[in-house]
Amino acid sequence: MDTKQTCSECGAVLDGDMTCESCFHQMLFWENENAANWAVHHLMVLCYYLQHPTLYSQDGVTVGKGLLTAFVKEGRSPAEMREANRDRVNSKNRNWKITARPDDKGSYANPVIWRMYAADVVRGGEPQYLDNVRSWAKSMYEDLVATNNI
Ligand SMILES: [Zn+2]
Repeated sequence: MDTKQTCSECGAVLDGDMTCESCFHQMLFWENENAANWAVHHLMVLCYYLQHPTLYSQDGVTVGKGLLTAFVKEGRSPAEMREANRDRVNSKNRNWKITARPDDKGSYANPVIWRMYAADVVRGGEPQYLDNVRSWAKSMYEDLVATNNI
């Protein structure tokens, strides 16, 4: 029997015993297995977290949206963003946390209906990994703009 379930956080329709977390681990595996896939690691982690914003603090969501905009809209590289954010992200200067705490979990001002999920990247298979992660990031940026969250 073909059982389907839905991720309670991002709304992805999942097959069998698939979870968004198992998809995250599959994508990390593909990056470790094939070094070329590492090129989109920054986008993959960002997309996974932004699609599950309770993994972030509220400040983390704000920073994550800024990074997604920089990568997708402005075409900036991870190295450029590390340099640009060096002072802000430096833990000595930082008075906020990126990851969620029990009393500080990220969310969006407006509900988002995503068009593409981690599961879609995994279903696309390893040969399409680079293209699919880039499409995932682009679609997520557009979905956040369309819902007035960016
Ligand atoms: Zn999910």
